[in-house]
Amino acid sequence: MQALVLEEKNRLSLRDFPVDETLGPRDVRIKLKTVGICGSDVHYYTHGAIGPFVVREPMILGHEASGIIEEVGADVTELAVGDRVCMEPGIPDPASRSTRLGLYNLDPAVRFWATPPIHGVLRPSVVHPADFTFKLPDNVSFAAGAMVEPLAVGVHGATKAQVKPGDIAIVIGAGPIGLVTVLAALAAGCARVIVSDVDDTKLGIAAKLGAVTPVNVSRTSLVEATKAETAGWGADIVFECSGNERAAAAVFEPLCPGGKVVFIGIPLEPIRYDVSGGQIKEVRVEHVFRYAHVYPRCVAMLASGAIDVSPLITRTFPFSASVAAFEYAATSPAGEVKIQIEMPD
Ligand SMILES: [Zn+2]
Repeated sequence: MQALVLEEKNRLSLRDFPVDETLGPRDVRIKLKTVGICGSDVHYYTHGAIGPFVVREPMILGHEASGIIEEVGADVTELAVGDRVCMEPGIPDPASRSTRLGLYNLDPAVRFWATPPIHGVLRPSVVHPADFTFKLPDNVSFAAGAMVEPLAVGVHGATKAQVKPGDIAIVIGAGPIGLVTVLAALAAGCARVIVSDVDDTKLGIAAKLGAVTPVNVSRTSLVEATKAETAGWGADIVFECSGNERAAAAVFEPLCPGGKVVFIGIPLEPIRYDVSGGQIKEVRVEHVFRYAHVYPRCVAMLASGAIDVSPLITRTFPFSASVAAFEYAATSPAGEVKIQIEMPD
């Protein structure tokens, strides 16, 4: 099958790549329709590794996906051939202690698409467990279905923050994960979300997502802008989605007493933050790693209109141009949020 293969750091090819997959009784075979390019895919391409995960042999990229079921295993009754679906890319060990505790995203043995040595899904079809495959209603497009993966991170973050109706939140960073967190925070009940970045185009997209105050921190102080929105009190929640060392170091400053911080962006190096600054406000700090069983909520919000991800999809390439799509994504083009690849019919 034709696949987008990361041969090694900085070398991609679109080529025939046989993947031997057998359909188990609880599996489905899915024909891929749309696959989003994630920052992690681009990072494996440009750096060959993320932390302990090193690309040692050719690997197919892509993990944000939607498709159509073309075959179902003997014991699958809840899905049928022809169903439009999105897929959760991480498969935990069902018997692991993490999984049994409901923390399956933290299972050390999780097998996650396009995380070495597991192949991703920039290829015609994939076999996947039915338990991690979710039906899309007719009014949710394949493009939106492929956005459920990043959206799930924002929804998991908003859940961890225990958003209350009328909260005022800050989202630091207007990249794809920052913007899905804005959508999740608003859908969870935030009265307003203050979004900080240095890219005016991305802030412009953020501003169109609802009750959003964009703040370009190259010109304006986030603390001052937050004071102006909260009568000097501070924000109830800060979602740190930049992974940026300086942003993280100052994360408690715009927060109200008793507020919450959720670390979502992944710093590339260990970073410092101001513990005493958090203590004098008795801040609750949460950390997020991917998500656990929020896909049904994400799909339900896309179907009801509570969340619209379409403003975040800024460019689409055909599969035949997927090497060019990655070369383009690797330049971190200003104003691009989510770049997707459409698979051929
Ligand atoms: Zn992703």
